[in-house]
Parts: sequence; structure tokens; C-alpha cells
Amino acid sequence: MEESGTRIVAVSNRLPIRLVHGPDGLEIKPGTGGLVTALAPVFRNRGGVWIGWSGGTDDEDVAGLMEPASREAGYRLYPVRLSADEVGDYYYGFSNEVIWPLFHDLQTRCNFKPRYWQQYLKVNRKFAEITTKHSSETDYIWVHDYHLMHMAQSLKELGTERNTGFFLHIPFPPEDIFMKLPWRAQILRALLEYELVGFQTMRDRKNFIQCLRHISSGIRISGRGPVVTVIVGDKRVRVGAFPISIDHDAFARDAKSKKVADLAWYLHEALPDQQVILGVDRLDYTKGIPERLEAFKDALSRFPELQGKITLVQVVVPSREEVSEYQMLREELYRLVGEINGKFTRSGWVPIHYLYRSLDRSELLAYYRLAEIAIITPLKDGMNLVAKEYCACNLEENGVLILSEFAGAAAQLHRGAIMVNPYDVEGMSNAIHQAFHMDQAERHNRMHRLREIVHHRDIFWWVNNFLEAAIAKDLRSFPAVEDYVPEIPLASN
Ligand code: UDP
Repeated sequence: MEESGTRIVAVSNRLPIRLVHGPDGLEIKPGTGGLVTALAPVFRNRGGVWIGWSGGTDDEDVAGLMEPASREAGYRLYPVRLSADEVGDYYYGFSNEVIWPLFHDLQTRCNFKPRYWQQYLKVNRKFAEITTKHSSETDYIWVHDYHLMHMAQSLKELGTERNTGFFLHIPFPPEDIFMKLPWRAQILRALLEYELVGFQTMRDRKNFIQCLRHISSGIRISGRGPVVTVIVGDKRVRVGAFPISIDHDAFARDAKSKKVADLAWYLHEALPDQQVILGVDRLDYTKGIPERLEAFKDALSRFPELQGKITLVQVVVPSREEVSEYQMLREELYRLVGEINGKFTRSGWVPIHYLYRSLDRSELLAYYRLAEIAIITPLKDGMNLVAKEYCACNLEENGVLILSEFAGAAAQLHRGAIMVNPYDVEGMSNAIHQAFHMDQAERHNRMHRLREIVHHRDIFWWVNNFLEAAIAKDLRSFPAVEDYVPEIPLASN
């Protein structure tokens, strides 16, 4: 591999943009979500390329919007265009009705339609074709997430020689759950076509290796530590745990800004003599929101001293609203919030402030800053960046983090957080009570510890770790923007 020419080509289901219909037709807006938040600062100004679906279907002409979007993003964007059928069966179908619930241990929500698998293969091949076109042999192809587990194999089938790595942002399930997948052997074999496979935690990595043992008896593991080599027949694949993180310094800096500080003060002034307990989640059945609301209700009933003294601010960001299960969850949340507020509200105090929308960054950071307690209780989660963002923004180091044992973040944050089982309503209710009464010294000790971890293990640490394992390079090895000539020069205007 030619040292100076190495670029990173990121491939993910979605490009880091959103297409919206504005008054002047289709417009490009910045995307949301963990992956975008995590990778954007890393690729910007480093000559990178990002390949992904634009979010539209073929009838919408997105090609013309890509050049200005690439210029604004600071890295080259290449769209993969999907038909309505492909979106239905590959994205909503295989990715979100099969892999998403199964990998979050919720197998009863899976819909194992054979047609979904066929479209998954077809779309992975489409991604491989576009990657072949826009990359060269010296590039490092970094594939992201569960939508594209088959891509390295598709590249090989096309005869494209590339150094490829894969990172799974969601959990990898235990063997007895994974084995329910009708295409289990195909998926495992496809993952073995990558040179490096990364998971969020050691537990995910262990689950993957156990599943490999199930399909092949002759597996050997070489090495120790977070990255090991799995040897299956004549294949050698490096397999590692790389807990993803956030741009800690950017969050801490922005949280300190006057705008955020003023907004935090203003929002908390509206809730005088209250401790604010904050939940921030995408609308998703994996996030454990109904269970959390039940726990809050239980805490108000069993610990009446909390009444009038604690307010739950629950932010739910709309997501996958086209899917009936998500619509049902939305309705269930409205019902639960209404029931709890109906039961406990009294003059001057509404127990739950429910925000069903996306917040702008200042508002989100203001809530992180002002909340005395954050409650993050997914039933299962790959990492959960909100947990880390809350810590980074807790500048006074007096907040309490209540965290699910089943969030990937638990592996790093369990010593500072109050850990809970998100299925245990009374246990979570006890944790709310404990957090409410925690003294300042303990709050400070715990939060200081949490912030140290988030500070030292930030997004740049994560990228460096992955790239060091992948190609023995770190971020400093990549060309600065002034040295970089895009493969297809951008129009001057
Ligand atoms: N977030 C956002 N808008 C909001 C609330 C949250 O963009 O109104 C972001 C938040 O900052 C975080 C991401 O959404 O970076 C959620 O990531 P997480 O890993 O917690 O969960 P995911 O949604 O990826 O499952």
C-alpha cells in the first residue's frame, strides 16, 4: 500500500445528510444520529470519501445536490440510489425487522421474510459496485453497521481488491439468540471476509466468537487484549472491541458557551426548587422508555417526598415513524405520560415534561447542563452516546448518571454511574430515589470519574484505535486538506 495515498472511504447505509422538501424543492440538511455525530469531525478536512444512501428513492434527483453538500461537508459524498422496493425490503425489512430486533435480543419482534434477505444481498452488492467505482486499491474501506455486513464479500465477488474493515455499531447477540437467524451461516461467513471486524464491547466480541465456534469447529484465537486474530481454516481475521465515543472537548466547550449557559439557567428557572431528571432517546422500542416512565411513576408513589421536587424532562426524537411498531410506541408514550401527569400534577408542578421533537444543539446541551440526574435505560444498546454527552456537558460535576447494564457504555461507565436493570421497574425507581438524595461529595466523585473516562476515551481515541488495528496508522497519517486533490475535482462554484 502506498503510504501517502491512503484515504479513508467510509461506507454506511445513510450519508451524513438528510433530504427534506423545502419551499424551493429538495434541500440537503445535516443528518442526526450516533454515527454522524461520531464520524463527521473525523472525516472533515482529511480528504475522506463517504458513500451511502441519500435517504430518497430513485425518482428524486439527488446527484446535483451532492457537489454543494460535499463542499460544505469537507469530504466527498457519493450517493447510492435505492428504489422504493429496495428501501422496503433491505432497509425497513432485513435491516430493521430482522437484524435490529434480533441483535437487541428482541427476537419476538423479528420478521424473517426470505424476500428481505434477497434484497439485502442485492443492495450490499450495489454498495460494493459504487465503492469499487469511487475507490482505489490504496484506499482503506471502512464499512459501518448492520446494514452492510455482506459488503466485503460482495466486493470480493466483484473481484475488487481492497483492504476492508467493518464496525458494528449495535450489539452482537449471544449465540442462542443469533442462531435463530435463518441466514446465520451466510452472515458469519460474510463477516469473515473483512480484514478487521470491530465491536463496541468485549461482550459483543465474545458473542461473535462463540457464534463462529457454532458453525465451525476448527477455530483458533491468537493474541490477547482488545484485538485478537481469529483463524478459521486459511482465513485470518482480526476481531476487536472499540467502544465508540464523542468529541468530548467540543461538547464541553459548547456547554460552557454563554448561549448554552443562559438557556440552561432560563429553562431551570421555570422549574424552581426542582431536581430535573433527564431522558433523551430516539423513538425506539430498544430504548426502554415505557419501562422508565413506569419506574418514575413508581418512584412518585413509593417515595412521596419526591412529589413536587423532581421533574422528568423526557425528550423523544421522532424516528422510523413510517413503521407501525414505532407509531404504536409513540401512542403508548403519549398514553403513559398523560396517565402519570393526570395522576400526579398539582398547581405549580407537572411531573413529566414531554418533548416529542428533535432539539437544536444549544437546547440539548442546555438540558444536559441543567439536569441534576440523567436516566438512560435502554433494554439493550450498542453504546449510547447520550450517556457520554451528558457527562461531557456536566461542567459542575454534580450530576448523577443512572445507566442500564445493557448499554454498551456500561462497560466503561459502570464505576461512576448508578447501574440498573431496565426490566426491573422497582430497581429503577430505587435508583431515582438514590440519585435524588445523593450528597454533593458522592455526586462529585462519581461524575469526576465519569468525565475522566469520557475525556480520555473520546472519538479521536476511538478512530485512532480502529485505524491502528486496521492499517497501523492513526489520524496524523492522513493528508491534511491542503495536500489533498479530490479524485473528481469539485466545481469551482
Ligand atoms: N440527538 C440529536 N437531537 C436530539 C437529541 C439527541 O441529534 O434532539 C443526538 C444525540 O446528541 C446523540 C444521538 O442523537 O448523539 C443519539 O445517539 P445514541 O448513541 O444515544 O443513540 P442512537 O439514536 O444512535 O440509537
